[in-house]
Amino acid sequence: MYWNYTDIYNEITENWQQLEQATYPDDLLNEWADRAVPIYSNDVIKDWQLMPSEFDNSFQEHFGGNIGDLTIIQLMQIDLYEYYRSEYARIYEVVKTEREGFSYCANCNAEIDDEFNNPFTKFCETCETKETEGK
Ligand SMILES: [Zn+2]
Repeated sequence: MYWNYTDIYNEITENWQQLEQATYPDDLLNEWADRAVPIYSNDVIKDWQLMPSEFDNSFQEHFGGNIGDLTIIQLMQIDLYEYYRSEYARIYEVVKTEREGFSYCANCNAEIDDEFNNPFTKFCETCETKETEGK
């Protein structure tokens, strides 16, 4: 399956907490980019043709022309990996900008609109009310 902007955007937003909590979000993004690269030749060829042509021959940056005995399919997979890697990194920045000022409730994980980016805001309104009532 060819991953377009919306597909990648959705995956990043759906897994946003995981990314935020990761020590190395780039590692996660690269892992997802790697997973987006198809395995079967037919799919590789199809996705490679849909990929923007600026990523054609990305493999040359990897190997400096020294491609050894890699097949054309393997080279296309490297191009696709480079393409997805750059897309994931770019869209991650988009989502990060959109999410600025949001944090998560320590109790129920609900999104909190923390417009002041207050590091001490830990609970959503519902949980905060419960906390106060409990005391
Ligand atoms: Zn809550």
